[in-house]
Amino acid sequence: MKYIGAHVSAAGGVDQAVLRAVEIGANAFALFTKNQRQWNAKPLDDATVEAFRAACRRHGFGPGQILPHDSYLINLGHPEAEGLAKSRAAFVDEMQRCERLGIDLLNFHPGSHLKKISESECLARIAESINEALTRTRGVTAVIENTAGQGSNLGWRFEHLAEIIEQVEDKGRVGVCLDTCHAFAAGYDLRSAEATTAMLDEFERVVGIEYLKGMHLNDAKSELGSRVDRHHSLGQGNIGLACFTTLMRDARTDGIPLVLETIEPAIWAEEIAWLRAQQEAP
Ligand SMILES: [Zn+2]
Ligand SMILES: [Zn+2]
Repeated sequence: MKYIGAHVSAAGGVDQAVLRAVEIGANAFALFTKNQRQWNAKPLDDATVEAFRAACRRHGFGPGQILPHDSYLINLGHPEAEGLAKSRAAFVDEMQRCERLGIDLLNFHPGSHLKKISESECLARIAESINEALTRTRGVTAVIENTAGQGSNLGWRFEHLAEIIEQVEDKGRVGVCLDTCHAFAAGYDLRSAEATTAMLDEFERVVGIEYLKGMHLNDAKSELGSRVDRHHSLGQGNIGLACFTTLMRDARTDGIPLVLETIEPAIWAEEIAWLRAQQEAP
């Protein structure tokens, strides 16, 4: 079973995100459970939590179909004590919000060394941040997203993801979300069926397919290996449609949320329908 959806708005309350997903024909979705550009948010009230859980039950969104994204401000590999402590506290809050909402995954960008510590020191800090958050929460898996490698962001090479996971104590509660635009910008070619399969093979070899807990399906305005993160609608960027057809026919993407973060919400319904249709060979 393929779970396909988009990163929908949670304006008006997280329960509204469920309805927006239903409207576009999605059976998976992503959302922010708080304002992604602010450090603090008021706790979720009981009525909102119940409305969200009821909407998920009513529309059949179970565990593994919802992939929330954390705040952009959080840097779990921050080189300085104050920034690191603030990020870790905010991340635990995000995990706890998921716990209350009955969501079992939380997607986040690993972190940046800001040119102040080495790559491996930063990756170790990220792993330590994950360990701390996992001991303070239950039932939520920390899902590391591969990045485009802009600036000093780590996680653009599969080896970075493997190095983090290696240092996480509870291997059952850590995973990866693969973003196609980010992978392409990081230098993984996706412009043909063969290249796309080769990318998944490499992920399987370097990280392990059991860690693949979600995907972001985005075409790219940016060039291969440019380390620039610019999403585009499917088929309109430098990746092209063959990649997405291939992913829809690969069993390795079964049973995990496949989420569009493409740039035109008005055509998400169309993109989801197209992706679904690709599952059948011509
Ligand atoms: Zn993404
Ligand atoms: Zn991106």
